[in-house]
Amino acid sequence: MSVNKPDFYYASDYAGLTFKDGGFYYGYEHNICQECGNKNNGESCENHVDADRYWCFTAKLPNIEKMIVIPFNFLGTKDMFDVVANLNMGIGWILAKYNLVLHT
Ligand SMILES: [Zn+2]
Repeated sequence: MSVNKPDFYYASDYAGLTFKDGGFYYGYEHNICQECGNKNNGESCENHVDADRYWCFTAKLPNIEKMIVIPFNFLGTKDMFDVVANLNMGIGWILAKYNLVLHT
């Protein structure tokens, strides 16, 4: 695969789009405890093992060290398990909120 070619992937509980030096992801691997807001990596909250969790959209952008995390309840979509819709909405929020500069 060419290093500049994006790669889209999905399954029943996650979806992602990777590209050179970054990527977008939505799914169970990044989630937030609905009881306390703890961020968890694919596991239950250490304080609330049985609590429901919001799956999260994440974005890793080139030249930005910090990962952007948007939980499902902030995406404005209807179904937490519609992973492709939630991935797309997350990308939409990135495009809406960030000043992007094209490098030629
Ligand atoms: Zn918790």
